[in-house]
Amino acid sequence: MENKLVDLRDSRFVLYEQLEIEKLCETERFGDHSKETFEMIIDTAEKLAVNEFAPVNSEGDEVGCVFENGTVRCPEAFRSPFGKYCEGGWMSLPDVYDVGGQNAPICMYFACHELFYAANHALTVYMGLTHSAAKVIELYGTDEQKRKYMQPLYEGRYSGTMDLTETQAGSDVGAARAKAVRNPDGTFSIVGGKIFISSGENDLTENIVHIVLARIEGDPEGTRGLSCFIVPKYRVNDDGTLGDTNDLVCSGVEHKMGIHGSPTSVLNFGDNGMCRGELLGPEQKGIVVMFHMMNEQRVLVGLQGQALGSAAYLHALDFARERKQGGAFGTRDFTQVPIITHPDVRRNLLWMKAYTEGLRALVLYTTFCMDMETASTDEEEKKRWLNLVELLTPIAKACSTDKGFDVCVRAIQVHGGYGFCKEYKVEQFARDCKITAIYEGTNGIQALDLFGRKIRMKQGEAFRTVVEEMKKNIERASGIAALAPYAESVGRSVAALEEITRFLLEKSSGEDAYLACSWATPYLEIFGDVVLGWMFLWQAWKACEAQTGAGERDKPFYAGKIATAKFFIGSVLPAVYGRMDTIRQFDRSFVEMGESVFVS
Ligand SMILES: Cc1cc2nc3c(=O)[nH]c(=O)nc-3n(C[C@H](O)[C@H](O)[C@H](O)COP(=O)(O)OP(=O)(O)OC[C@H]3O[C@@H](n4cnc5c(N)ncnc54)[C@H](O)[C@@H]3O)c2cc1C
Repeated sequence: MENKLVDLRDSRFVLYEQLEIEKLCETERFGDHSKETFEMIIDTAEKLAVNEFAPVNSEGDEVGCVFENGTVRCPEAFRSPFGKYCEGGWMSLPDVYDVGGQNAPICMYFACHELFYAANHALTVYMGLTHSAAKVIELYGTDEQKRKYMQPLYEGRYSGTMDLTETQAGSDVGAARAKAVRNPDGTFSIVGGKIFISSGENDLTENIVHIVLARIEGDPEGTRGLSCFIVPKYRVNDDGTLGDTNDLVCSGVEHKMGIHGSPTSVLNFGDNGMCRGELLGPEQKGIVVMFHMMNEQRVLVGLQGQALGSAAYLHALDFARERKQGGAFGTRDFTQVPIITHPDVRRNLLWMKAYTEGLRALVLYTTFCMDMETASTDEEEKKRWLNLVELLTPIAKACSTDKGFDVCVRAIQVHGGYGFCKEYKVEQFARDCKITAIYEGTNGIQALDLFGRKIRMKQGEAFRTVVEEMKKNIERASGIAALAPYAESVGRSVAALEEITRFLLEKSSGEDAYLACSWATPYLEIFGDVVLGWMFLWQAWKACEAQTGAGERDKPFYAGKIATAKFFIGSVLPAVYGRMDTIRQFDRSFVEMGESVFVS
């Protein structure tokens, strides 16, 4: 079994050595788990990803989803791995026993899904959304809704979707026009159209449960007037059998740049006035309900970007070791050497390795914070973990997807002309990856969430919590002689981040607010690199400690980890200062020219 998807030695290092997730097993919530059960889960996930998901990735890309008379034929080759995933209970891995789950930490679910997304992004999109739909019904549904919809979703008999987007309501979710009209029996008639709905129509499952945002007649405009509804493709009878079709039709699927195996559907609800929906959660709280789905999805989409970067990097590494061009650097020997020895290729690969591993640590840390928040019994501690999750979510989503895509593009470059050809898989990774920066809130919207909301919320408490955590690691690493200069570098970048945050906050409170806000994305990118600097410093001191007494097999890994950390802190992180200086210039040409700048 060849795994060119995820470096599991690195995943294990993050889970067990950096985050020490075995601590979770000491809590009541995760008390039934141990390193042995975690290892069993990872091994099984690897087999499923490598043996079942990856082999049908290209086929799914080639055949795509076929739309015919209102139905969608998914790639036939997806049926078997989808079935095995469901049979294996992967859908509800992190959920409580009461709903049929395995009570595993969410960070384990993410570690396994890095393998699944890397192996077959389009296929795994069905599963991620199905899990989120089940989760939101678990949290907000009535007992009857849980029985009728949640259970079959967790079992994978039904698939789930989230339906926000309409033609005029993309990032502007509150502009949704889908309408809900009260019926005497307590249900609602849903009328309207949704676009771009992933898995919106598919033939992998016997029913589809749509979680739909719509406005009850008479409710206010904007997001605060929206409510959430469960709208099944087929109505479900009280005994769980399927009833009539629910006046909901798919009128087409998009032809896309990537994830061809995932049907991105146009849905029309209630053309004949017969589409029944059930209210999920309180009226006019649809956005709050949907946010539960979106928060999980945002970090999961971050994982998608990171996972595709991981697969692209490992493919590029393999290629660079095999492909020979040119003589050895600085010699007159014309014997061709592997391209990995050329300085430009080597730097490219190290950059890719650094981002792949740094982002893996960030995504797994964010989910570990979710687990700690769930498991903590102390209210103050819970608040602290939640602060970390809230602040890190937009960074994990945007940085992992932007940089994950950059890694895929660099992987193509390392392959030269072969990278541009279908036979080598990296071009598909790049095409599949691009969407991750767009859906689940574009990365521009993530930057606004970070800059406009998260760093200000609770009077800056979440921001302070993150900085405090960074400083703990800086202090710890300063005590190790070999790392002291790197600890100082990261410390300097954190101080600079605090300073640029103050600068932009000050500017954004006055008449320069528009100009200040235009820096939201560069600010997020800087924040992301400082966070990765922190992750690497943390990993470096853990690796230094582990090196002493490590066996022969582990020594090269720790040495590589320390070298990668030093490379990121020494060769990548310093770029943030130039970017911060640029922001501090606060160049006014951006606003002075107004619209006229675009006139040719
Ligand atoms: C393959 C695919 C699958 C999808 N799956 C789903 C799904 O399952 N469910 C679902 O509901 N939707 C889904 N979407 C829709 C997706 O979430 C939206 O495309 C996305 O939210 C952006 O909306 P939009 O395309 O209308 O772009 P727009 O909102 O028009 O944005 C265009 C550009 O303007 C920027 N922008 C917009 N508003 C602002 C603002 N206020 N401030 C700053 N910048 C702004 C954006 O960042 C973006 O760069 C999917 C889309 C695709 C392509």
